[in-house]
Amino acid sequence: MNDETKARDLLADRGRSLYDRGYAHGSSGNLSARIDGGILITPTGSSLGRLDPAKISKVDESGKHVAGDPPSKESFLHLAMYAERPSAKGIVHLHCTCAVAVSCMVHKDERNVLPPLTAYYVMRVGKLPLVPYYRPGDRALAEAVRKEAKQHHAVLLANHGPVVAGKSLDEAVDNAEELEATAKLALLLDGKQTAPLDAAKIADLEKHFPS
Ligand SMILES: [Zn+2]
Repeated sequence: MNDETKARDLLADRGRSLYDRGYAHGSSGNLSARIDGGILITPTGSSLGRLDPAKISKVDESGKHVAGDPPSKESFLHLAMYAERPSAKGIVHLHCTCAVAVSCMVHKDERNVLPPLTAYYVMRVGKLPLVPYYRPGDRALAEAVRKEAKQHHAVLLANHGPVVAGKSLDEAVDNAEELEATAKLALLLDGKQTAPLDAAKIADLEKHFPS
């Protein structure tokens, strides 16, 4: 089995796993993996729960469709993130409920919209900026993501959902799941007195677990 075939199978498997566990509904969300010679991305209108590995789209780094079904209309979000982050090998974009809820709230600091509640969140996500709302398909959204992507491997699109990169597809999936879990905690704790990790604890984590 060659590397591209393996990557196609992995995308279909991880898509089904996310769908089955409620991280994606309907035909929402898309996954991608950077391989030699291009990017594999879930096709437009496809459900993450029912991906056919052979039909997964392949595009070049400029977004030109090379093989498989036509790519997701949100593929430009992935391309913007890959362009700014050479180390990114996988990207997950979800419309998962708790993170979307956070994306609809008013935030004091839009540069970082989730509190550092746990060490795993700090290690897997770090800071999460809110990217302003644009209607689906608006290319200005790609530019807005591009602006944040050099500094951040995870961003939250306002009234929409997260885009999360990893050094592998599995790392991107784990990071996205951690983000959704923390969004859920933040909603559970909303209005309650909480003690997030302080700057010293975050600095200690960054020292012991450099990204
Ligand atoms: Zn979306």
